[in-house]
Amino acid sequence: MLRPSARVANFIFHFASLNFVSLKFASLAKGAAVGFFLAVLITARPLPTLGQTTDLLQDRRFDALTWVQNSAEYRMLTEQTFRLALHPLITALDDATITADEAQLTAGDFADKPPAIILDCDETVLDNSAYNARNILKKESYSTETWNAWCLEVQAEAIPGSLEFVTRAKALGADIFFITNRRDVVKNATVENLKKLGFPATAENVLTKNKELGRGDDKISRRAMVAKNHRIVMLIGDSMSDLCSGLNVTETIQRNQTGNQKFQQLGSRWIMLPNPVYGGWQQALPGDKHALKLKSKTK
Ligand SMILES: [Mg+2]
Repeated sequence: MLRPSARVANFIFHFASLNFVSLKFASLAKGAAVGFFLAVLITARPLPTLGQTTDLLQDRRFDALTWVQNSAEYRMLTEQTFRLALHPLITALDDATITADEAQLTAGDFADKPPAIILDCDETVLDNSAYNARNILKKESYSTETWNAWCLEVQAEAIPGSLEFVTRAKALGADIFFITNRRDVVKNATVENLKKLGFPATAENVLTKNKELGRGDDKISRRAMVAKNHRIVMLIGDSMSDLCSGLNVTETIQRNQTGNQKFQQLGSRWIMLPNPVYGGWQQALPGDKHALKLKSKTK
């Protein structure tokens, strides 16, 4: 038998314990309710949006394009490339023995000609990532029809660092040429787009593609047109074919071997820009499974 004081103490302890349990239970119940409410909210999101996001993430172009459009690293890389290119340019402008064009070097007759730089357009000075983003969202691939329509919009942005480089190169005395595989049908729009961004583009220095008229994919004939009256001091592009010939091969290992043989030009007469979204390298891939290297890199 407990003393009255002990009974009072026991009652208070018991009452407090019950309250603690009920409070704890109330808290748990409240938490469960909030969790349930949140779960309802989350699962209530429209399924098409979730499905679409999943599809986008599975598109092989998604990561490459979001890197180009959003990363500070891409911007820094292109800016850096163009800034570094000014140094060999200054050297080449003053050295009449230098030409960046293999055919012109073989021909030899270039020392007394005025210096010129040849730049590719797409993903070298013009940023077409919006066109590729649209294709991803619409689950479409490149087509000549949609590409030409995009070119006619005149909405391409400048690749970071490119305008500053071209402006400086021109001020240093280099003539500027753009050799692009855009077709004649979008030439006027291309000149307009370049001019809109501040590039010194005209109908004369923008050389578009037209196979029937001898201006083929490989750009060799168009480089020869420039070489006729100029010493080509620098070639700039995002594709190996912007820099030299003999790279229209379909095997990755062949492309890499050719690149290795010609690397002495890289960073001085030839300047390469990154393009992880599309290019000749894709057509040369042996297929998803065989393109992955688990042990060593292709030399
Ligand atoms: Mg290009």
